Amino acid sequence: MAPDLPALVDEVATIMHAMEDRGRVASYIPELAKVDPAQFGIAIATADGRLIAGGDADTGFSIQSISKVFALTLALGKVGDQLWERVGREPSGNAFNSIVQLEQEQGIPRNPFINAGAIVVSDVNLGGHQPRVAIGEMLRFVRYLAGDDAIAINEEVAASETATGFRNMALANYMRAFGNVRHPVDLVLGSYFHQCAIEMNCRQLALAGRYLMLDGRHPEGGRVVSPGRARRINALMLTCGHYDASGDFAFRVGIPGKSGVGGGILAIVPGRASIAVWSPGLNENGNSQLGTQALELLARRTGWSVFSPPDAR
Ligand code: GLN
Repeated sequence: MAPDLPALVDEVATIMHAMEDRGRVASYIPELAKVDPAQFGIAIATADGRLIAGGDADTGFSIQSISKVFALTLALGKVGDQLWERVGREPSGNAFNSIVQLEQEQGIPRNPFINAGAIVVSDVNLGGHQPRVAIGEMLRFVRYLAGDDAIAINEEVAASETATGFRNMALANYMRAFGNVRHPVDLVLGSYFHQCAIEMNCRQLALAGRYLMLDGRHPEGGRVVSPGRARRINALMLTCGHYDASGDFAFRVGIPGKSGVGGGILAIVPGRASIAVWSPGLNENGNSQLGTQALELLARRTGWSVFSPPDAR
């Protein structure tokens, strides 16, 4: 039987609002440390065109690493499979901002969803232009995906990370030494930090993810990517979307998901739903604590899983 999504979304939001252990808000980006951890939002865009939202679904948050999904989509559009000469596609088993693996692997990041990989993707997307061109392109892209021109960049968050992003500067400089970052590091990071500082609410994020549940189609018509590319992006979200907790996320939730340190997660049920959850408190792996729990509960109650036969979901 089809799940009663509005009732389920309300129930999940009520349960999550009452949770006491909410994780810890990211503090290494000072502007993010100011966000109130008491919040929880959820929105589900379904393949049949509904949008069901609950909790703080209208409150904007910093999408942070969720932007890596949209940046990867753009970069694949520009250079296609050549991207895989510069970035791997294996889970890293390391923290999102780890530097050790880069030395062993000669400046080729494990995958496009750890910071090092996303910095290479930003380098590709810069394509010889000034950061404002690449940032403008990214913003237009997410607005088109969500069908919402109100989506904007939070400049305070971008400035805050620019002032404190020393680890990312180290990663970028290190890869520049290997020739895997080709533009000046400050331009690449200027672009990367602004893409991470895009602000969206759960409704907008769920809408922006629809192409990934629709085998690459834009719900209003036309194609964002080919079916094969959409499937590969989903595969990377499942295997690498939660850093060193990606296996645990696949085990507990069972659908592709990408997290960000702003506390958001975009999760995709192919053929069924694009889901955005947000709660700013993070677990020890830097993934939203309640966001993960909410998706686990939702997946259990709906039966949604990429590991179950289609007729069972
Ligand atoms: N902008 C953040 C960083 O580079 C993104 C990290 C994340 O969301 N996991 O550190």
